[in-house]
Amino acid sequence: MFDSLSDRLGGVFDRLRGRGALTEADVRAAMREVRVALLEADVALPVARQFVDEVTEKAVGQNVLRSITPGQQVVKIVNDALVAMLGSENAGLAIDVTPPAVVMLVGLQGSGKTTTTAKLAKLLSGRDRKKVLMASLDVNRPAAQEQLAVLGTQIEVATLPIVAGQQPVDIARRALSAAKLQGFDVLMLDTAGRLHVDQALMDEMRAVSDIASPAETLLVVDSLTGQDAVNVATNFSQQVPLTGVILTRMDGDARGGAALSMRAVTGKPIKFAGVGEKLDALEPFHPGRVAGRILGMGDVVSLVEKAAQSIETEDAERMAARLEKGKFDLNDLRAQLAQMRRMGGLGALAGMIPGMKKAQAAMAAGAVDEKILLRMDAMIGSMTVKERAKPELISAKRKIRVAKGSGTTVQDVNKLLKMHQEMATAMKRIKKMGGMKGMMSLLG
Ligand code: GDP
Repeated sequence: MFDSLSDRLGGVFDRLRGRGALTEADVRAAMREVRVALLEADVALPVARQFVDEVTEKAVGQNVLRSITPGQQVVKIVNDALVAMLGSENAGLAIDVTPPAVVMLVGLQGSGKTTTTAKLAKLLSGRDRKKVLMASLDVNRPAAQEQLAVLGTQIEVATLPIVAGQQPVDIARRALSAAKLQGFDVLMLDTAGRLHVDQALMDEMRAVSDIASPAETLLVVDSLTGQDAVNVATNFSQQVPLTGVILTRMDGDARGGAALSMRAVTGKPIKFAGVGEKLDALEPFHPGRVAGRILGMGDVVSLVEKAAQSIETEDAERMAARLEKGKFDLNDLRAQLAQMRRMGGLGALAGMIPGMKKAQAAMAAGAVDEKILLRMDAMIGSMTVKERAKPELISAKRKIRVAKGSGTTVQDVNKLLKMHQEMATAMKRIKKMGGMKGMMSLLG
């Protein structure tokens, strides 16, 4: 999914992040590349244009946060714009109505409508423990009703018994009364497919909609059809009040144009994504996660947010002042550890350091986890106030006491002290180089 777009954007951003300072011209050049990448991913032209205009405006006027490269800031702005373009938040189903909540699925033939009806029924009956009834109103395609019945047996969800010759509107009526009488929470209506948007079928769909008053009318479209999928959605939404879109075959969609422009063009949220043929291959569509996947850097984005928050804190200010002086005792280490924990571990910190390669950051993330940080905190917590301020006081005997107090071993205490020693030495060196600001300018 989104592989080529992800690669293209990755290249643009790696170049941006590789620089210390960015000029307006750099940002504008990068945004031209982003525009091409979006168009190659088959994003609708007006959507790509608006996206790039908005991002450029923000990126050019953006103040650069301390300790973070401007390149990362631009990535964050692009991420936020992507999330907004995709619809901001996961739009769930509004089915908390007086039962039965009717969920009607509409769409072209072959879009995956019947499969998706079953997938959604499985999700609602399994995850949400709803009592679901499915009914096929497709009297056009031979054996469509039987297909749904077979799927129903597979997923153990009830289907409305088939009455030969009955027409869609009558089937809908019968389904509704069966659902009411038998106490179903949700009634799913799989409507007749069509080859293209055709008036007779649209009228039929509207008649069914009038009878069933669906809580959700979901359009199923094939993401592989790209901008056609978006056009189909526009067409349908002019005929029936759509509440959302389900994009199928996202598993095979390397470009992602339909997913990216659907919301902006139609105003309808993508609620689910079909990601395979199996009946559990349906995922709620989360714009934030999708954007993260496209940029291949969800972690960095949330890190920049977290860093922006923690920079505000007094803690960080005080720490910076001490570091400027080249002082670093175990209390400082402890404060630093707490900050690392807030920011999601050493890996996050490593990723924040400008110029540090992704691979290194990933290694650090794997090597140091939350538990280790907590254990280090416990060791410092078992030391006396004097020991924390003057670590050289910690003799072999005291080490045993600290290890016992923190449920660790003397080796662990030694490792901690060695790490502190190394950091303290590094701090002294930083002071010589002109403090943290000096170091950051060197790295940036
Ligand atoms: P309908 O005519 O709209 O009811 O389409 P069907 O539900 O019969 O689906 C047509 C084909 O698409 C079937 O072979 C499905 O297995 C397949 N299909 C549906 N959704 C997905 C999906 O998300 N991913 C993949 N790979 N195949 C899908």
